[in-house]
Amino acid sequence: MKYAEVAVNLPGSRSTFCYAIPPQLNIDVGQAVWVPFGSRITPGIVVELSDQPSVEATREIAKLITDYSPFSSMQIGLARWISRHYLSPLFDAVALMLPPGFERQTITYFQLAKPEGDLPALTPEQTKTLHFIREKGKVSLRELERKFGMKEARRIGEQLLHSHLVVKSQELGKARVKPKMVPYVKLIASKNEVKDEMVRLNKARAYKQAAVLEFLSRQTQPTAVSQIRKRLNCSLEAIKALENHRLLSIGLVTIRRDPLSYLKLKPTSPPVLTPSQEAAWKSIQGNWNHGSPPVFLLFGVTGSGKTEIYLRALDKVIAMGKRGICLVPEIALTPQTVERFANRFPGCVGILHSGLSLGEQFDEWQRIKEKECNVVIGPRSALFAPQPNLGLIIIDEEHEWAYKQEDKSPRYHTRDVALKLAELIGAVVILGSATPDIESFYKAQMGVYHLVQLKERITPRGYSPLPKVNIVDMKEELKAGNTSLFSRSLLTAMKESLAQGEQIILFLNRRGTATFIQCPNCAFVFRCPRCSVALTYHSVEKNLTCHRCHYAIPVPQTCPQCFNRRLKFLGIGTQRVADEVRQFLPKVRLLRWDSDVITKRYAHEELLNSFRDHRADILIGTQMIAKGLDLPQVTLAGVVNADTGLNLPDFRAGERTFQLSCQVAGRAGRGLKAGEVIIQTYSPENYAIRAAAKHDYVSFYNQEIDYRRQYNYPPFSHFIRLAYSHTNNDLCRREAEKMSYAILDEREKRGITGLNLIGPVPAFAARVRGRYRWQLILRGSDPAQVLSGMTLPQGWTIDVDPVGII
Ligand code: ADP
Ligand code: ZN
Repeated sequence: MKYAEVAVNLPGSRSTFCYAIPPQLNIDVGQAVWVPFGSRITPGIVVELSDQPSVEATREIAKLITDYSPFSSMQIGLARWISRHYLSPLFDAVALMLPPGFERQTITYFQLAKPEGDLPALTPEQTKTLHFIREKGKVSLRELERKFGMKEARRIGEQLLHSHLVVKSQELGKARVKPKMVPYVKLIASKNEVKDEMVRLNKARAYKQAAVLEFLSRQTQPTAVSQIRKRLNCSLEAIKALENHRLLSIGLVTIRRDPLSYLKLKPTSPPVLTPSQEAAWKSIQGNWNHGSPPVFLLFGVTGSGKTEIYLRALDKVIAMGKRGICLVPEIALTPQTVERFANRFPGCVGILHSGLSLGEQFDEWQRIKEKECNVVIGPRSALFAPQPNLGLIIIDEEHEWAYKQEDKSPRYHTRDVALKLAELIGAVVILGSATPDIESFYKAQMGVYHLVQLKERITPRGYSPLPKVNIVDMKEELKAGNTSLFSRSLLTAMKESLAQGEQIILFLNRRGTATFIQCPNCAFVFRCPRCSVALTYHSVEKNLTCHRCHYAIPVPQTCPQCFNRRLKFLGIGTQRVADEVRQFLPKVRLLRWDSDVITKRYAHEELLNSFRDHRADILIGTQMIAKGLDLPQVTLAGVVNADTGLNLPDFRAGERTFQLSCQVAGRAGRGLKAGEVIIQTYSPENYAIRAAAKHDYVSFYNQEIDYRRQYNYPPFSHFIRLAYSHTNNDLCRREAEKMSYAILDEREKRGITGLNLIGPVPAFAARVRGRYRWQLILRGSDPAQVLSGMTLPQGWTIDVDPVGII
């Protein structure tokens, strides 16, 4: 007997289960199967075969699920790594690679157990249900529920099962997407027949039919029914009538739903590289074949020509007969990039993201699988596209948070999974950024990655310096009696730009607003005396809490520094910025870019186009607008509140503030005119802000890495966040305390050293949709070690290498 280890779709379960393989089934690694689990039957994926069972009593695999194509052993290997590293169920990891629309429900069916015999004494409800099942032959549980009510249907179903009158079976629900089939018409009549038929039809006054026949006789290819109907304004009946006369045939043709159909492709050829691009490209080519496939960190300011290097690299792998994947943080924000790729590789670009209709996703996925896309572009999920013969993975803006999946298991980081995937298949990786993640730059410094630099910006003016950045100290504004959102210098600069007919971006740092308390008079912020991070306001407990050490004080009434009694809960939105702009500049045309405003598909593009066409003067937005937009008419970029992020209880606060300020600075002056940037802040002396103003990543990195080393933050340690959520706050706290004792016990029992446990503390977002959240943080060189032998009860989530606030 052979046995199979199966990853079963069981939320929260990290182990695989051993099943016996019945002799009649031909089972291989990677296949999807039905397996019995408890009283149910559930889908699973075979991840390993063996001759020995791993447990004493095994059940048998029920049957194969044939409409999934099996996973390759490489995919299973990657899934296993994800599951191990992120402590997530193996099935969740495998599910990342399933085709779109395949999260299918299992449907339970009831059938009569045996042909009619003597019935035992039944209640009237049981009789009624049994009759219903007999009448229909096979009835789904859902149908029974609809007819008899949910509770009743389930109860009686169980009773009938128990007395062996019915049997239960389970099947996968229908696939939610299918290939799109469209009816096409082909003429089968000969020329002479057409001539005769035209005479007959005209005589019979069937003018529409005659017109269809005449139209088709001029076509060289089959024509879509919808096209004929639209062109000739005729009914379906007219076409059907001709089909009945055997003059034409109607057949179904598979149509590809093309998400790029809106683009008017203008195939382009590669430009001549600038000298610094040439040098970067040489360095990449020179190291391409060095031993194991290399990872490049392409470090270049915004507009320095990184994308052009990506395109070259893709050209290179395609020439080698391989294919590539290019990941972008948020596809809705990068229509220009998509267009550039589509123009350079016309017809061979696949695009995958959740903004597409399920049908489009399905068709793109199939196209990719069938080797039709040399390049796949998409957000993090596109890493799992079934790209055959993958030779290159590019991650643009590699420092972006969007690459971490935070909201559901597995909570993976795309960069780390991409590195693992590349290692498994021998692919080259290019990570690109103007402000590399501290951890990535550290690896480049350590020689793990090849560092490749692009130092100058390319603009229509040729090389041009980065825009001048002015820091405005908002404390000085307060002293001068200016309590508005805008400093005097930002307001003056705005007026000047508008007078010149130029465009402006105002950027709002929304991270962490309304969570801490600041004195509007002297800018004092309440901080933890032990950890010096800002204390955050908790509406649940009505106090100010430190997330690091759980120090807490009641909400103060006065500022301890200037004794002002009107403390401010900081919180501003794009609406408030817009209102203030209107106060000062009543005639100006404004656009707001904000996830609250923009919800529709393509809305980003519409808004962007309207701004690019200069139908507005000022664009106001949150961090989203700081990313890759190329807006040549923008000459002034203002950061309204650069430092709110600095007050977050997050060891990456400095890094985030630096990244955002740099990106905003990269927005201005990309066109013919030079640009100016104004950063407003209450912390003008902060190293992140000072370095951003000088566009000096390296000096920022040097300070930041010292700080990380000193406090033992990543890359010098690893974090794991355990969170528990429940509608009852006390229960949440108790559960978290119980867990912390369990972990401490385990640590002691196994003699694990160098592992800190922080908490339990309420999570930063302590209450989300009516559920309270408490968390524990593990820090150490291998914090997962302590958890490997523990099973977490239901309700706990695990986030390994979290990127959010901790
Ligand atoms: P990044 O990806 O670093 O932001 P891009 O590749 O988008 O930079 O380049 C910035 C601008 O310079 C784009 O408008 C691009 O078309 C142009 N560009 C890039 N490389 C060249 C080149 N070799 N010759 C001419 N223009 C170039
Ligand atoms: Zn503290």
